[in-house]
Amino acid sequence: MTLKSSQEYLESIKKRKPMEIWFRGEKIDDPTTYGPLSSSLNAMMKVYELAQDSDIGPLMTVESTLVNGLVNFYVAPLMSREDAVKKTKMARILAEVLGCCSHRCTGSEAISGLYPLTYDMDEIKGTDYHERLKKWIKYVQDNDLACTATLTDPKGDRKLTANKQKHPDFYLRIKEKRDDGIVISGAKVNQTGIIFAHEVVIVPTNAFSEDEKEYAVACAIPADTPGMTYVLGRTPQDLRLAGDEIEKIDAGKEFADHQATVIFEDVFVPNERIFMCEDYEFTPLLLEYFTAVHRITAGGCKCGGLCMLTGAADLAIEYIGAEKAGHVKNKLAEMVIKLETLYALSLAAGFEGFEHPSGAWIPNSLLAHCTKFQATCLPFEDIAIAREFLTGWGETAPAAKDLFHPVIGPKLEKYFTPVAKEGATAEDRLRVVRLIEHLCRGSNWTAMAIHGGGNMEAARLMAYRHTDWNKLKDIAATACGVSKDKKKTYRKIAERKGQIDFGEKGFKAYLDKLKKGKEEKQV
Ligand SMILES: Cc1cc2nc3c(=O)[nH]c(=O)nc-3n(C[C@H](O)[C@H](O)[C@H](O)COP(=O)(O)OP(=O)(O)OC[C@H]3O[C@@H](n4cnc5c(N)ncnc54)[C@H](O)[C@@H]3O)c2cc1C
Repeated sequence: MTLKSSQEYLESIKKRKPMEIWFRGEKIDDPTTYGPLSSSLNAMMKVYELAQDSDIGPLMTVESTLVNGLVNFYVAPLMSREDAVKKTKMARILAEVLGCCSHRCTGSEAISGLYPLTYDMDEIKGTDYHERLKKWIKYVQDNDLACTATLTDPKGDRKLTANKQKHPDFYLRIKEKRDDGIVISGAKVNQTGIIFAHEVVIVPTNAFSEDEKEYAVACAIPADTPGMTYVLGRTPQDLRLAGDEIEKIDAGKEFADHQATVIFEDVFVPNERIFMCEDYEFTPLLLEYFTAVHRITAGGCKCGGLCMLTGAADLAIEYIGAEKAGHVKNKLAEMVIKLETLYALSLAAGFEGFEHPSGAWIPNSLLAHCTKFQATCLPFEDIAIAREFLTGWGETAPAAKDLFHPVIGPKLEKYFTPVAKEGATAEDRLRVVRLIEHLCRGSNWTAMAIHGGGNMEAARLMAYRHTDWNKLKDIAATACGVSKDKKKTYRKIAERKGQIDFGEKGFKAYLDKLKKGKEEKQV
């Protein structure tokens, strides 16, 4: 079994070579002792700790298909329907504990996307990407390394393709090809958990055409590779986290994540760590494989976060004695319906997938995009309810330092104590207030709901593309008698799994097109 304890993880992170990390105009020498990053480190360490927890651990580990024994689920590709279901459950449970990103999920999704993709590439192009990837995954599994997927480019002017931007670095690119590897240049933005990662997995953000092939790059590099500069993003709570223990109460909870901008200046990647090099024709497929897995996680993890928000809303309304009101119960029930809907969608997307010839499991992409779409919308309805129950005084609550101050504290406490709930203290109320504030507007949790794993429009576009519109029209035409070929329609209905969704048939059709293209070129 290769599982690091949280302490072993911390020691391994401290052993990384010095990294260029900046925040508020200052260089951070040691991110593991830096106040604004403390909640993020707590979260990362908790994720390592939970993998060995007797209750939660079994959901976070899996028998490896590459090395002997159990490994962390975050370093293994999805290989079965059971794995896909487990992924959703794990995402939910971790979010219920942390109320923030688990920091390691994107890395596992990059692994799950690259695994079938490199297999396809080798089949069609005769490359050896799959073996390279497997070797790297084994290394990552043997050492239980934290990996982050690094997709999002700055992208400049969205009207222009990557090769037409004002600067060629607006999308991360291959600047130079050498016998022993490549040199990459550019930037990636909004990178979650990256400062506490061991490995950075670079994946293209878009599908690219032949004249943009320098942007078609996938590879893995250690986070402390020379030439990389990290700039930590701000959150409204970062300075609260840098304060003492009382000030930290205002941060809302023990765990949070971080995002960073990463600048790559002539970073060398050796051949054995390259999994796509100018293979532009495979970029759409990689995005399909990646998002199918990543977007099921969005459902599980937003569901877990909403469990926390719903519980906090219930506590807040109890503190003012309005919990029995009919509209309150209705609103709480709606919160539960929404979070369980996300869970159900996410589970269904994983369940209705298919087995790829590489052995990998690909979730149902249409359902995965539906999950992501709902994950961008539903939290905001719940946020409005939680903020309503918080009361206006929750929104404008005083600082913990005032509540605990020897002079002003007792005066505040008299009014802030939630007298409607027996035994509850002013401190309890402030903690719940700050938790709701954290989830609704203090951290990047809501930004992640909107943008993490792609925004609502991306999900809408993919849902449109992955729907078999002819089938839907046939259903209607058969029902109202416009179409007479009932049997044909019934067959289509019965084939639901592969028909209405891009699914197995869609992926096969895409691969066949690539194979045919290659044969025609050879002729
Ligand atoms: C908290 C947080 C955590 C994140 N974590 C990660 C991470 O770990 N790794 C990672 O790689 N990324 C991460 N992301 C990035 C995330 O994946 C992107 O923000 C997301 O894909 C959207 O990309 P964008 O920000 O460039 O916005 P855009 O895609 O540019 O979207 C902005 C708006 O412009 C519209 N738009 C853009 N281009 C066009 C066009 N051509 N035509 C029509 N409309 C257009 C969009 O529809 C949208 O309405 C994270 C983001 C956040 C906020």
